[in-house]
Amino acid sequence: MVSSIKKQAKITISGIVQGVGFRPFVYNLATELGVGGYVLNNPQGVLIVAETDQNTLEEFIQAIRQNKPRNAKIDSFKVESDEKLVGYTSFEIRDSVNMGGKCAILPADTSICPDCLREMHDPKDRRYLYPFINCTNCGPRYTIIKELPYDRPKTSMAAFEMCPECQKEYNDPASRRFHAEPNSCPHCGPKLTLYRSNGTPLAEGAKAIETLCKLIKKGHIVAVKGIGGFHLVCDATKNRVVMELRERKKRPTKPFAVMFRSVFEIGKCTELSPIEEATILSPERPIVLISKRRPHRLEKFLISCDGVAPKVGTMGVFLPYSPLHSLLMEQAKIPLVFTSANLSGEPLIRDSKELCEKLSCVFDYYLDHDREILNPCDDSVVTIQNNKFQVIRRARGYAPSNVLLPFELEEGVLALGAQQKSTLALAFGSNAILSPHIGDLDNPSSESYFHQTREVLQGIYEFIPKVIVSDKHPDYESTRWALKQKDSQVLQVQHHYAHMLSLLSEHKVKEKILGVIWDGTGYGDDGRIWGGEFFLGDFHGYERVGHFKEFRLLGGESAIKEPKKLALSLMFDLYGKEALNLKHPVVNSFSHDELETLYKMYQKGINSPLSSSVGRLFDAMAAMIGVVDRVTFEGECGMVLEGLYNPDFEAERYPYLLQEGVVDIHPMLLAILEEGEEASLVATKFINTLAHIALEVARIHRLPVGFSGGVFQNRELCTKIERLFQNEGLPYYMHEKIPCNDGGIALGQVAFAKFHGKV
Ligand code: ZN
Ligand code: ZN
Ligand code: FE
Repeated sequence: MVSSIKKQAKITISGIVQGVGFRPFVYNLATELGVGGYVLNNPQGVLIVAETDQNTLEEFIQAIRQNKPRNAKIDSFKVESDEKLVGYTSFEIRDSVNMGGKCAILPADTSICPDCLREMHDPKDRRYLYPFINCTNCGPRYTIIKELPYDRPKTSMAAFEMCPECQKEYNDPASRRFHAEPNSCPHCGPKLTLYRSNGTPLAEGAKAIETLCKLIKKGHIVAVKGIGGFHLVCDATKNRVVMELRERKKRPTKPFAVMFRSVFEIGKCTELSPIEEATILSPERPIVLISKRRPHRLEKFLISCDGVAPKVGTMGVFLPYSPLHSLLMEQAKIPLVFTSANLSGEPLIRDSKELCEKLSCVFDYYLDHDREILNPCDDSVVTIQNNKFQVIRRARGYAPSNVLLPFELEEGVLALGAQQKSTLALAFGSNAILSPHIGDLDNPSSESYFHQTREVLQGIYEFIPKVIVSDKHPDYESTRWALKQKDSQVLQVQHHYAHMLSLLSEHKVKEKILGVIWDGTGYGDDGRIWGGEFFLGDFHGYERVGHFKEFRLLGGESAIKEPKKLALSLMFDLYGKEALNLKHPVVNSFSHDELETLYKMYQKGINSPLSSSVGRLFDAMAAMIGVVDRVTFEGECGMVLEGLYNPDFEAERYPYLLQEGVVDIHPMLLAILEEGEEASLVATKFINTLAHIALEVARIHRLPVGFSGGVFQNRELCTKIERLFQNEGLPYYMHEKIPCNDGGIALGQVAFAKFHGKV
């Protein structure tokens, strides 16, 4: 019988295969099928040596591929067969080997799994209502790790000695907790304590959660330590409380995320689609931006929509992702605001000392625990655009896991990203490890967090870069740091080309494309501020074949906060000094003297740099129609215009001129100023016009089109573009797993190093 002849296979699997329960999964499968051999973690990932007959071997391999643990991600799966047999009589899990050169991929933190959730609710289980329950399939990873390989002594769980029962599970290959590094129980694991804001303890353990819920329901604002840092939490159903939080946090309009108990409740407040529902329920448990329910369909008792997300059309919603959050939500029984605890613009706060130093006037009570957060990590934010997933902020659940590159690097590359929505990337072989979202590098805390993240990741991967890539902008913190590095080749890449390279890398596109790169600002090759660009190019280079006609950012940096200055600048473009006599709210909002000064600045170009930015056009438009007076968070104008989009006017748009690649929107501005249409019609027509501009330029070049840059976070714009391009049969690419905003820049910089550096 041919099938009874035994064979040996050596299976090497790489990707996210450590810290996700791969070895016990393989062990159980092998034992079940009667396969002999062993499995171990090595620096490349997981190695399996299996001996059995041909049929069983095939079955075994197929089952590994098909039934892999829920958080595992296989990048490569290599099977080598060998006729020589050792004669294994059983299957075992062997100790990890450390052979230097770290290639295994650090896993990201994942939400509580269904098995743990069930145990947590079983009164007979020894972990009944235990807020730190986890297993090989779920729990914290990146946030508690110091070094690779991922083993308990190298995590912040090293401070907790396992009790005999936990140790037994940890050692038992058949247990769900075999080598679950954060394994613990109420006897041996981390503990919860509730404190007043002045640091006086109030309650512990289960009592702490119970008391906290009562306090929240009474209208108190509290801080809660979670997986990657602290959140500020309050009752989302009471407008008064939400407003109080806004007041204390000095955050007048930026939307707050809301945590719900169930998708059923989310469906009562939002226009939830099946794909959005699946994304909310995915193990990564991101914050998903979903269209709010139209007012007449909203069950008003459920949430203070105007409080949590004023003026915008979407609301960020998510489900509990840690056991602690689950317990909290179950007892609170109401939707809760869950917003990152930080000072505006600063990174997430991860310990109670810093919390009390910086935010003690914001919260009344805080729930702390003694499992140290070594690496802070924000919640991820995603949207579904036209039934497609798009990540806006790539953090918990997605990062720092790797992105597979469409090329091989012979040397290590460190990419530093940009200034806003900073992320950085370490790249080696065909992997780019993209850090979680760091934030805007315009304050000392964020800068030190940036360097800390860099050092942690470099340390974990024992990584010394041969090439360092930064943005071309001379004033970015990351550029300045890069230029000081003497041991590596230092490269700089134009901001919008990096956006395009990021898109090419994400979709593994090797052909030439037309890049439509629209965003806020980026340093152009001519030293001007770019942001409304059309590039022809590929990995090897690009040519700027078009752009939006430049206009003056009147008042420089201050125009970003006061978009009416941008609107005024466009009025000067149209009417010259006559603009001062216009009867328009924008003009009326300035005093006579201010107008005179601004006009002089405009004329002479004082503190009024030229820019082709489409992001700034959104700002100008929002000011012109009177929907945003002061910008209090980045992207606000785009979000407000998106919220005003009315599908009833889907076919309407404005005129514009396109000459030799330069887009002139003056005809549109004239129409807006002279027709005086209502805000939602203007917003809709403006967005439709932008989509048509992209289409017209695409028709000229007849190449696949790639869209990148922060402007494409706009769901209505993307939806409109997709419709137009699909109707026309034009191929196009949009970002999905990599942010279209500056959070994706680091990946593009890695590609730049490959094709323009010595790697
Ligand atoms: Zn679990
Ligand atoms: Zn224990
Ligand atoms: Fe950008």
